[in-house]
Amino acid sequence: MSQLDRAALSARAGQLAGELGARGVDLVALTFVDNSGIARTKAVPLARFAAAAAWGVGASNSFDFFGFNDEIVPGEHSLGPVGDLRLHPDLDAVTVLAAQPGWAWAPVTKYDQEGAPHPQDQRGLALKATARLAERGYTALLSFELEWVVTAEDSPDDLGGVRGPAYGFARLSRHAAYLRAIVSTLDAQGVGVEQIHPEYAAGQFELSVAAADPVRAADVAVLARETIRVVSEQHGLRASFTPKFAPSGVGNGGHVHVSVWEGERNLFAGGDGPFGLTSAAAAFAGGILRRLPALLAIGAPSVVSYLRLEPHHWAGVYQGWGLENRETPLRLIRGVAGNRDTAANLEVKCFDLTANPYLVVAALLAAGLGGVDERAGLPEPVDVDPGVLTEAERQARGLTRLPQSLTESVVAFEADAVLTGAFGAELATTLMELRRAEIELFAGTSAKEITETMRWTH
Ligand code: GLU
Ligand code: MG
Repeated sequence: MSQLDRAALSARAGQLAGELGARGVDLVALTFVDNSGIARTKAVPLARFAAAAAWGVGASNSFDFFGFNDEIVPGEHSLGPVGDLRLHPDLDAVTVLAAQPGWAWAPVTKYDQEGAPHPQDQRGLALKATARLAERGYTALLSFELEWVVTAEDSPDDLGGVRGPAYGFARLSRHAAYLRAIVSTLDAQGVGVEQIHPEYAAGQFELSVAAADPVRAADVAVLARETIRVVSEQHGLRASFTPKFAPSGVGNGGHVHVSVWEGERNLFAGGDGPFGLTSAAAAFAGGILRRLPALLAIGAPSVVSYLRLEPHHWAGVYQGWGLENRETPLRLIRGVAGNRDTAANLEVKCFDLTANPYLVVAALLAAGLGGVDERAGLPEPVDVDPGVLTEAERQARGLTRLPQSLTESVVAFEADAVLTGAFGAELATTLMELRRAEIELFAGTSAKEITETMRWTH
């Protein structure tokens, strides 16, 4: 995010291009994720890679205003068709795509034509949030869990593409080659897969990956999803990452795991607080907990997101936290006695995969640091399904229902000075303009239509 050293970038990219060429690469796909959570791309031939690294690749400012349906919202900060930004690949993240011969991939950071960081750049914001954390003496490890539903490629309404019960070995057996191809492709791309399994919903699978530094975690979320999409197609399947494939049933989550560290020390373990939390970790988690309504505008940013957020669906819809509680939006994972120092982390369950992972990272770090600044604590942990308590019991425990619509989350986000401050006025405004445009688009639309419209967008 520092000033671009164009000569150094060109030299380094030139050397990298030589290595990529030797591995059979002749094209590099450059991606960014837009404010609607869609990964968009421009590709350059390998011969142009060094120039792209030094000077960037042109991209319209209007990309900031793209809705999920490719409609461009006329936002306050829009220049319309005018203006140009430069996409600069992160040379440390260049990856040869193992399932797409001849291709490599790199995430980009956006700059303007003067070489200054673009104020609406999502990945740049995540880098900035990580730097803020570092200024305070902390680092963070994050990972995104991916859940998806597959269908037969030629008949998208046919979940018979996958058969067998939830978590069923039969489901795995039937798709053993498919799952193996996902894992081996990701492994060849340097992504550490930790687990893959058939999930609860019909036709659903889940992949978890190793925690990494915040921006890398978001990059991996982009790369892993695209890899799953491609490998699915190569196996005659279609992958849907939508929060709610159909109006009934369990949805696809995009849970985020986060731990905060001081040097080698995981602050989520070995402390004097409940379940071994240190006071810093409790404050960090408290900062996230109190901002969950606002955070949903980033982590559950679509109208369809709210069809997933129902009680008893393991998505977490009451504003509380608990130890290993899969019905609270914040699930503290302690790990097993003996490995808690490394394993303990906080899982944010109420987010989904229509979210931009870079914005999610930035928002969680800002909310957590806000909690540290505010010396936020945590209320009593919840050790039951909040959905089975009476309304009076929930009220007594402060277990407020999280927003049930995108409109409510937008209002909460706009009222949160920490989040809007961290995002900057320009980005915060554009994001909420896009959310409002989507709300308007879907006004009066049935759940069935919403789920069908959103099935293949993300
Ligand atoms: N699929 C559930 C969701 O919508 C989560 C299931 C789980 O806890 O892994 O978030
Ligand atoms: Mg799961």
